[in-house]
Amino acid sequence: MQDHDAAVDRLRHRRRTLPELAELAALEDRGAEIERALAEVGERRDDVARRQRRVEDELAQVEHKLAVEQARLYGGTVSLIRELQAMQTEIDALKRRRSTLEDGVLEAMTEREPLDDQVAALDAQRVILDERSGGLRAVVAEAQAAIDAELEVELAARAAAVDGIPPAVMTSYERLRTRLDGVGASRLVKGRCDGCHLSLSRTELAVALREPPDALLHCEQCGRILVR
Ligand SMILES: [Zn+2]
Repeated sequence: MQDHDAAVDRLRHRRRTLPELAELAALEDRGAEIERALAEVGERRDDVARRQRRVEDELAQVEHKLAVEQARLYGGTVSLIRELQAMQTEIDALKRRRSTLEDGVLEAMTEREPLDDQVAALDAQRVILDERSGGLRAVVAEAQAAIDAELEVELAARAAAVDGIPPAVMTSYERLRTRLDGVGASRLVKGRCDGCHLSLSRTELAVALREPPDALLHCEQCGRILVR
């Protein structure tokens, strides 16, 4: 049972510490960075785009008004000099406004271009990152499935080994395992406890060997259950 528990612990540790998991975590950090940058640049780009649309809308209105005024001016329906002069003044003002708005559109476009480029570059990075993460996730899943299969075998073997061990011994074993680095029972090999690697004294050994085979022995040094 101790052998199976140690194997299960090793497998679970290996499952948690797959190198691909660390790599994946690093990629996910980088991905979060890209998301933050995208949100920030995207917001600035959207602000500029909104401003550009507002200026373009106003430009369209001014161009429409200008067309109407010019049609009236050359339509021949107005003949009073004073009125014609007023119209000309209005047309001149509209043309100045149009020129200012055209500058505004150009300015917004110029401001927007590098932001669009940045968004595109970040998007491309995200695509590459997503691809690599996807590949790594597949590798991790495969490795974990293999470990899970081994775990299943070990856990089944452990369940078979546990069968017949008295509950009191199990409780003691589990408590020792928690306290002693996952090892609750150790073998007595050539007079030595292979849990703490200390030799039993001659008297201890003599006492141990006198005990009936089903008696529960503990290592005097580390307290682990000794398996003869
Ligand atoms: Zn010991």
